[in-house]
Amino acid sequence: MRYISTRGSAGSQASSFSDILLEGLAGDGGLYVPAEYPQLDAATLASWRDVLATQGYPVLAHRVLSLFVDDIPSDDLLGICRRAYTPEKFGSSSIVPVERIGDGPLWLGHLSNGPTAAFKDMAMQLLGELFAYELDRRDEHLTIVGATSGDTGSSAEYAMRGRDRLSVHMLTPAGRMSPFQQAQMFGLQDPNIHNIAFDGVFDDCQDAVKAINADAEFKAKYHIGAVNSINWARLAAQVIYYVALWLRVTTQNDQRISFAVPTGNFGDICAGHIAREMGLPIDTLILATNENNVLHEFFTTGRYRVRASSEVAATSSPSMDISKASNFERFIFDLLGRDGARVADLFGRQLPEQGYFDLSETPEFKRLTDRYGFVSGSSSHADRLQTIRGLYFDNGVLIDPHTADGVHVAHEWISRVAAPIVVLETALPVKFAATIKEAIEVEPEIPARFAAIMDAPRRVVDLPNDVQAVKDYIAATS
Ligand SMILES: *Cc1c(COP(=O)(O)O)cnc(C)c1O
Repeated sequence: MRYISTRGSAGSQASSFSDILLEGLAGDGGLYVPAEYPQLDAATLASWRDVLATQGYPVLAHRVLSLFVDDIPSDDLLGICRRAYTPEKFGSSSIVPVERIGDGPLWLGHLSNGPTAAFKDMAMQLLGELFAYELDRRDEHLTIVGATSGDTGSSAEYAMRGRDRLSVHMLTPAGRMSPFQQAQMFGLQDPNIHNIAFDGVFDDCQDAVKAINADAEFKAKYHIGAVNSINWARLAAQVIYYVALWLRVTTQNDQRISFAVPTGNFGDICAGHIAREMGLPIDTLILATNENNVLHEFFTTGRYRVRASSEVAATSSPSMDISKASNFERFIFDLLGRDGARVADLFGRQLPEQGYFDLSETPEFKRLTDRYGFVSGSSSHADRLQTIRGLYFDNGVLIDPHTADGVHVAHEWISRVAAPIVVLETALPVKFAATIKEAIEVEPEIPARFAAIMDAPRRVVDLPNDVQAVKDYIAATS
């Protein structure tokens, strides 16, 4: 499998999986995508049904990833999958359990039983193993520098902790994360994990990371890298759970079901799109946003308008509070018939120049649902509270506010799409205790495996809002 850029002209150079693993953007500013999607037939799905039932999730993961990776020996890749997806890390050997809500058409796909209680662990645990493997092979060290407002940073730290060839420097906006999120990150005692409480808001943290990456000399000297949401390997890892959930909910190898996906950077649902393009029998992909409805706006009007950070609302599903959807370009590339020049014009020229692009008058706009299976919706704080309350009191199921966005929008579409609908659960309620309390008047229980972290000593340095201070700290601790 070779990889090309979404902005690449035909004939531009293709790269292998390992080439792009440690990279961010392609050289022309685009995102990497497979040169073509591998295709699944009924016989493959039938054999995978058997694999999942008899050999479990890591072996299924190996089967799926083998379609995307051709430059890691198969046995090594299997070892990587076995180390990434263990019952110890994910709470059970099923890794992604699925549960029907009552006896209705909705199911919950539990993606957040990993080490940090958010679905990002599904991709990040695999990424940790892949990075360690590739750095060993190259005899190199990587310093990951990132900014986080919560879930991504902690998930990356738990995937990279204790690894010789990796260190993580994670900037967080001082005093702005939930107590649980702070405990989770700052409670890590591993010497290769460095938490920085940065005196600013999340955007300031991100600006500092950008400034560090813009300093080519510093970047090269300290081997600075990233684990951001546009990393192709993260998407490949996410395709696996669509397959696993589909296998667990269906009984026939041509049975079409739908997925409802809470969306921020269009990462989780992009993997659903890829799975559907590969021929996994998915009827509809229901995209759910919160009040920051950049994507819902596009899917209903054809206009994609990025927001200024001052326009981004702080909501009770904070991991979906985005100004632009950084993976979206991958879908638009497919929608436009893989025309790299047009994608380059939309994302490389129109967006920076005018802040939006508009496809409403194009034939492609009409294909969003008919050809690609997308529908969308958005929800409000009141919708989330009502949804959490409803599921809890009617069905005895407690969900987090992000998952509630998914359930709310799934309800809007329930009579118009093929059932069952699997709603992807993206975090456990314990991460967002204040909103849960507001909804059901009791705090969610802290699962036993997280109890120790709440009392652990805190490892974090306070730094001023100053890029040089961060660079000095990285230099001193690398
Ligand atoms: C990151 C995140 C999302 C959004 O996922 P994307 O891949 O960015 O669409 C939703 N819910 C939670 C809890 C998250 O951490």
